[in-house]
Amino acid sequence: SKKKGRNCYSYFDHSMQSDLLNKNSLINDLKVALDRQQFELHYQPIVNLDNNTISKAEALIRWKHPARGFVSPERFIPLAEEIGLINDIGEWVFLEAIIETVEVVKNNKNFQMSINTSPLQYRKNGMNISSWFNQLHAYGLTGRNLVLEITEGVLMETSASVRKNLHQLKDLNIEVAIDDFGTGYSSLSYLKKFDIDYLKIDKSFIQNLTEESDDIALVEAIIMMAHKLGCKVIAEGIETETQKRILADAGCDYGQGYYFSKPVNATQFHKLLESWNSK
Ligand code: C2E
Ligand code: CA
Ligand code: CA
Ligand code: CA
Repeated sequence: SKKKGRNCYSYFDHSMQSDLLNKNSLINDLKVALDRQQFELHYQPIVNLDNNTISKAEALIRWKHPARGFVSPERFIPLAEEIGLINDIGEWVFLEAIIETVEVVKNNKNFQMSINTSPLQYRKNGMNISSWFNQLHAYGLTGRNLVLEITEGVLMETSASVRKNLHQLKDLNIEVAIDDFGTGYSSLSYLKKFDIDYLKIDKSFIQNLTEESDDIALVEAIIMMAHKLGCKVIAEGIETETQKRILADAGCDYGQGYYFSKPVNATQFHKLLESWNSK
């Protein structure tokens, strides 16, 4: 009926309006979050599947909103990109992550911190890689202590500044990982073209890995091709012993996921490293 139609419409209208209010208020809060020190980095170990040691960790940002509690990066990173705040956040993440790395390398010289970067950071007026490199050195670290995670889309960009940034990273010995592999374009040709160091198989492929799954063949093929192209493989989202075993059998180099540990804060991460090393 007409009446019902109108109700539907107004309901829809209201919910859209409240989404927008919600978004705008989140944006306003996001703008002051850096100044108010509401961000925190959590660390998730990346385990070498050959010898069961923690050789790397991924830094994952957390926003502790004063009223809403923890807001997921899946929600606020896209907003930060939209309003031009992602470069500032990216700089904060970098500095916070390397300060933590300094602590970890005291006991593990070859430790690598892996940080997430937005495609926008590779564009003009984005990050300054020479400055990052200088900061690494000022903290007694080298390019080798850092891995930058990028999504496949970045490699598809043809702009001069994106290319320049990617090549400069390699010149400074900073390694590069392709995040969420398998969910985007998944073209393997650029792995070679850009001298990519790691390919991270997206957790959606790992989560279905059981003895009978077709995904075993898929994962095996990805690992084999990556190795042929000189790339190491990290599987993300490992939650079970079975998944770990299937991946190790398939020759996967590194694993990450709740099976080993959830992302934890710096204090917990140090405890984790200590207990892991004394095993
Ligand atoms: P991502 O880079 O793909 O990160 C992996 C996500 O999977 C993380 O979610 C992590 O907590 C979660 N995860 C790890 N192990 C498991 C597991 O065994 N099972 C399941 N179900 N999930 C697992 P998180 O921390 O919520 O981050 C979500 C996304 O936000 C990240 O996805 C990344 O795209 C983005 N992000 C996080 N931190 C940063 C950052 O510092 N900068 C940028 N630009 N993006 C970030
Ligand atoms: Ca990542
Ligand atoms: Ca990922
Ligand atoms: Ca992601």
